[in-house]
Amino acid sequence: MTKPFASPLAIMSAMESELRSVLAQLEDVRKTVVGPREFWRARWHGQEVVAVLSRIGKVAAATTATTLIERFGVGAILFTGVAGGLAPGVHVGDVVVASRYLQHDMDASPLFARFEVPLYGASHFDTHVLLSAAVARAAQRCLSQPQTLLGPETLQAFSLSVPKLHVGLVLSGDRFVSSTAESEALRALQADALAVEMEGAAVAQVCHDYGLPFAAVRTISDRADDAAHHDFNRFVQSVASRYSAAIVAEVLRVLPVISASAQP
Ligand code: SAH
Repeated sequence: MTKPFASPLAIMSAMESELRSVLAQLEDVRKTVVGPREFWRARWHGQEVVAVLSRIGKVAAATTATTLIERFGVGAILFTGVAGGLAPGVHVGDVVVASRYLQHDMDASPLFARFEVPLYGASHFDTHVLLSAAVARAAQRCLSQPQTLLGPETLQAFSLSVPKLHVGLVLSGDRFVSSTAESEALRALQADALAVEMEGAAVAQVCHDYGLPFAAVRTISDRADDAAHHDFNRFVQSVASRYSAAIVAEVLRVLPVISASAQP
């Protein structure tokens, strides 16, 4: 059996503001341009990483993930970004670690069941259990000290109190969900869905194709409702990007330990 998290680890985000604080901390950075994207090979906390901006949506995320695997030989992919909260207890400022993904806009019925990805015989793609557990532990550790991470002014500016960690189903689709009616419709379709975003399920499918470990962590930037676009960019810059950098740093710190513990 090979190591479950062969080096390098890919760190992927959809928006520049999400990746900015990760990029700021990388060491020994080498940039490679492939097509329209810049891939940043670097070291961080003693680990080899490749950081990249996928851009928004499922196609952009899938091509980026494929390039990471084919051109850069990454051993695992960690997606870090933001999402809209769907389940009632998932508030702005909380963090969601995905245990499985579903494309909410996949519908080839009546040829295939609604949501089923044609010719896969499946609608859901699971994330990697061990890597996701490590990400969840890292997120929990970071959330336990929001004051240190964000400072009291930012906490107050966004009315954040005690951020919570949630683990479960996340939906992806090529739509920014920004109406209460639409988020209620998604909840009616998948009662256990915690959050919605636009990339994760595509990366989960690519990683499934290549047998690669995948995990995703998303800070809740909005409630996917009529007010979803208010403060969105400011929130990503002030809150989510700091969470991303802190959580990924913590994952990298513990990665050698969990990798070794998973050896036969
Ligand atoms: N305002 C941004 C565009 C954001 S698109 C710009 O101008 O560049 C939303 C991004 O955040 C996507 O990458 C998606 O994955 C995530 N996201 C956050 N909230 C979302 C929501 N309510 N619905 C869908 N995606 C959401």
